[in-house]
Amino acid sequence: MPIRTRQQTLRAPISCYGIGVHSGKNATLTLKPAPENHGIRFFRTDLPGTQGIPALFSRVVDTSLATVIGENGVIVSTIEHLMAAFAGMGIDNARVELDNYEMPIMDGSAIVFADKIRETGIIAQSAPCSHFIVTHPIEIADGDKFVGAYPDNSFRITCTIEFPNPIIGRQTISIDLGGDHFFSEIAPARTFGFLHEVEMMKQLGLGRGGSLETAVVVSGEEVINEGGLRFPDEFVRHKLLDCIGDFSLIGMPIRGHIKTVKSGHLFNHHFITEFFKNRSCWETVTPT
Ligand SMILES: [Zn+2]
Repeated sequence: MPIRTRQQTLRAPISCYGIGVHSGKNATLTLKPAPENHGIRFFRTDLPGTQGIPALFSRVVDTSLATVIGENGVIVSTIEHLMAAFAGMGIDNARVELDNYEMPIMDGSAIVFADKIRETGIIAQSAPCSHFIVTHPIEIADGDKFVGAYPDNSFRITCTIEFPNPIIGRQTISIDLGGDHFFSEIAPARTFGFLHEVEMMKQLGLGRGGSLETAVVVSGEEVINEGGLRFPDEFVRHKLLDCIGDFSLIGMPIRGHIKTVKSGHLFNHHFITEFFKNRSCWETVTPT
């Protein structure tokens, strides 16, 4: 996608229904077009009268298992894959309505959302689209975890993961999201888990909606899903998808190169908080 000068929204409403991966609760999700400068906002239709929660990193209340935003005691959980779809498909303004507290996980990737957005269509609005530009490098590290942001003419992300499991091992992927690569290269990559962890989480009452329909499950040296992996390096592609979702909480398209090594929602959120405080490392630019 070329650098956008105008804000965009959906052409028409979109609906999805499915189970929440952590809660096991079914939810109906409706994505609606929204006016200029509205941003992405989440509304709980099961709590009438409550206000919409803007999808911004300042509203993040938990990142331990998934990205959770909240305001005035109202929360919406596991927003990262939908947020990646909005950022990857170039949607700036949308009203997200949900009738429970956790987003449906669908197939564990962002392809259902991205596909419906593409099918429904995207419309350009007249208000200019501001961009968040990385002007100076910034890096943070904690043990072997690392996140950095560097100036770049496009929006590029490079992710590295490392797991002792031999079918994952060390994987790196670098994608230029200024192109049209999100839909085919990243959106279909599913979240993943290890069978022993899935069993332990279920015993703790977590991951209630987790199954072979909602995640890639690794047991020993095998992927036990029928049909195997969608990409040989689906694991790192999903980490990159999560990273797009996390960085979308800056609230506008980014121009810069983000590099992460062994990071996750928590460390990405920590980085964004530090980055935002370092006013000399970024600027926002609004086309005229
Ligand atoms: Zn994810």
